[in-house]
Amino acid sequence: MKVLKFGGTSVGSAQRIKNVAKLITNGEQKLVVLSAMAGTTNILVEISDYLYKKNPDGANEVINRLETQYRKHINELYSTETYKQKTSDALKAQFEFIRSYTKDLFTLFEEKVILAQGELMSTCMMTNYLQEQGVKVELLPALEFMRTDKNGEPDPVYIKEKLNAQLDLHPGADIYITQGFICRNAYGEIDNLQRGGSDYTASLIGAAIHTDEIQIWTDIDGMHNNDPRFVNHTEPVPRLQFEEAAELAYFGAKILHPTCIQPAKYANIPVRLLNTMDPSVSGTLISNDLVSDTIKAVAAKDNITAIKIKSGRMLLAYGFLRKVFEIFESYQTSIDMICTSEVGVSVTIDNTTHLNEIIDDLKKYGTVTVDKNMCIICVVGDLEWSNVGFEANALDAMRDIPVRMISFGGSNYNISFLVKEEDKKRALQSLSNHLFNNKI
Ligand code: ADP
Ligand code: ASP
Ligand code: MG
Repeated sequence: MKVLKFGGTSVGSAQRIKNVAKLITNGEQKLVVLSAMAGTTNILVEISDYLYKKNPDGANEVINRLETQYRKHINELYSTETYKQKTSDALKAQFEFIRSYTKDLFTLFEEKVILAQGELMSTCMMTNYLQEQGVKVELLPALEFMRTDKNGEPDPVYIKEKLNAQLDLHPGADIYITQGFICRNAYGEIDNLQRGGSDYTASLIGAAIHTDEIQIWTDIDGMHNNDPRFVNHTEPVPRLQFEEAAELAYFGAKILHPTCIQPAKYANIPVRLLNTMDPSVSGTLISNDLVSDTIKAVAAKDNITAIKIKSGRMLLAYGFLRKVFEIFESYQTSIDMICTSEVGVSVTIDNTTHLNEIIDDLKKYGTVTVDKNMCIICVVGDLEWSNVGFEANALDAMRDIPVRMISFGGSNYNISFLVKEEDKKRALQSLSNHLFNNKI
């Protein structure tokens, strides 16, 4: 059974839900993971924000607006009064439930419950629509099988056992629908897999049921060779190796959530990125196979802070780097890029929650300077060190752009440049022009 995940834009209107329904009902049995309708999770975040700020009137206004939108969707989606009424009753109960949170103390715990409502609504709407169309469909509640452990990591053993139990409870359906993103934590509370986490749900499910392919359906025809939001004339990459896809996802290619690669890679299940708006195109196939000798794509990650520690004491000293790393570890702050010289070390971080404490502690070991609003540009492909010419090409593209750090050789798959955020668009476009012969 294939696992298909449809993102927010793919189910973003009544018409799109109908299109997805058509696409998934071709006779093959499928497990379908859905995100919330586009924009809904952001609106649920906004509602939570009002409630944190103890402004129930503000929250109620946004809730009312969202409910009006959903009422319109229901009217457009169903053709029979029975299904209009059935779905309308279900969603009304959900909106009443959200409203009940405007009356009480609001904490992180309540926010997670509010954020879960988007996926609960979209899956209810799709299941009812398929039922109205006469499809043999079952809704599998993700909160019954998707669970994280005490470290906040998904618990694959639990997921496999409980998901298979759910499937056994409902044998013989043609389509199984479930919610992406939402889960329970080790204490049984409602939680989630972080924003954009429906991709992760799909790969965890794929691994749990040993599917032969995980399909991520979105609003673009696969992983492009550069960020289409900033660069002109980008093109889809037909094939990527898991490591290449993971680098791109981690370094900003929003089409894929970075965590999604690992379960698929371990279980050796190919992941295919496909376009709901144009289902006939082949998209991108991500697998263990490497297409060698090519640079595949470029991605960028914003909000990066660079920290340089310069120290005479580093000269010929061992243990210096350990002390520096321990400081980052003690503040649970992970490092993305690192460059060293005999007199200093530069690292980058994206989580600045403890920046001041980190700087204070680092000052014990050297002179510290900080550059904020930086951006990591990541060039990904078969960059095994014996392949000649690729680094030179990438460097040549960066000829007119001030580069704060360069990292190469950490893996066989990337070269990273640290530049100012204001230079990001120029750097991305120049890399496309040089590496992919992309003249504007
Ligand atoms: P979904 O709602 O389906 O999860 P996302 O918005 O999370 O969709 O991801 C799809 C979007 O990712 C695309 O519309 C595109 O703007 C953006 N994107 C960023 N980088 C890339 C890339 N390298 N290739 C394709 N899409 C990208
Ligand atoms: N609905 C969630 C979000 O917007 C999860 C997802 O779409 O993947 O972040
Ligand atoms: Mg997404």
